[in-house]
Amino acid sequence: MPVLVVGGAGYIGSHAAHALKRHGYEPIIYDNLSTGHSELAAGFEFITGDGFDSAKLNPILRRVDAVMHFAAHAYVGESVQNPRKYFHNNLLGGMALLNAVLDSPVRKLIFSSTCAVYGTPPSVPITEEMPRQPVNPYGVTKLMFERALEAYDHAYGLRYVSFRYFNAAGADESAEIGEIHDPETHLIPSAFEAIHGKRPALDIFGDDYPTPDGTCIRDYIHVTDLAEAHVAGLEHLAHGKSLAANLGTGHGHSVREVLSTIERVTGKRVPHRIAPRRPGDPAELVADPRLAEKTFNWKARRSLEDIVTTAWKWDQTRR
Ligand code: UDP
Repeated sequence: MPVLVVGGAGYIGSHAAHALKRHGYEPIIYDNLSTGHSELAAGFEFITGDGFDSAKLNPILRRVDAVMHFAAHAYVGESVQNPRKYFHNNLLGGMALLNAVLDSPVRKLIFSSTCAVYGTPPSVPITEEMPRQPVNPYGVTKLMFERALEAYDHAYGLRYVSFRYFNAAGADESAEIGEIHDPETHLIPSAFEAIHGKRPALDIFGDDYPTPDGTCIRDYIHVTDLAEAHVAGLEHLAHGKSLAANLGTGHGHSVREVLSTIERVTGKRVPHRIAPRRPGDPAELVADPRLAEKTFNWKARRSLEDIVTTAWKWDQTRR
């Protein structure tokens, strides 16, 4: 079954394309390469374009049974500085894509949402019923698209799965694809940059949070586990039911725990220093992943150690 992977030359989209292929689907990658990398789309049919390009999209949408939508800007801090960019691309570009889908025979869509739609949750673990009150423009654009999907499902029968990702990390076990961001801001690759001397030290953003070691706690989920969930989500859509579900492990790790795992796995010291808190960082974000487990029979199988091991292997291929 052919599936259009929009944003398939990005970090998570490329892993989803690989998972689809492993499960016998035929992914077609569609990406405007604004933040994607054509090398991550190697081995797939690849079309350059964006959500606004309906003349390009329309014929492709007639060749596929489902769409996965990963194409978005995803830096929280940048979304605060430059919201126009985020509303334009994530919301307007996303809506243009959604309307092109609506004007095609396709009625199945999987959307990359985020735990940022919850903002600062009232408690952890976070369940899907908790209020969606994003605290930055990035989270707002994702929530608005979720709302559009809900309305289109109700009015037009366009079925969707919105996956609310926690902290995607790690790389494909093959080390053929992995995370490439410029600039790099995510914790694990930033720590690798500190190991390589590409930055003087890893800044720990705050050590006075109300957590056991004072540093922020996040739910790190292996990107291959995320990718597998998308295949399960696609199979679920065959039953004609829309859904929003968290994708996390249900276990949190502090920044310090991540750094000590990196040191153990790589055998190298991560130079680090304490820096001020990063604005908008809640102390603790951990998923309650049981809905996805119950609905899709899916569970994150890979550990923090697996995340660091595969991320390090990918990092080594790029030195
Ligand atoms: N973090 C940090 N130093 C860095 C990058 C991240 O201390 O250089 C912390 C950040 O405050 C958060 C966690 O690591 O608590 C994960 O951040 P990341 O940017 O990887 O993902 P996010 O949670 O923003 O999606």
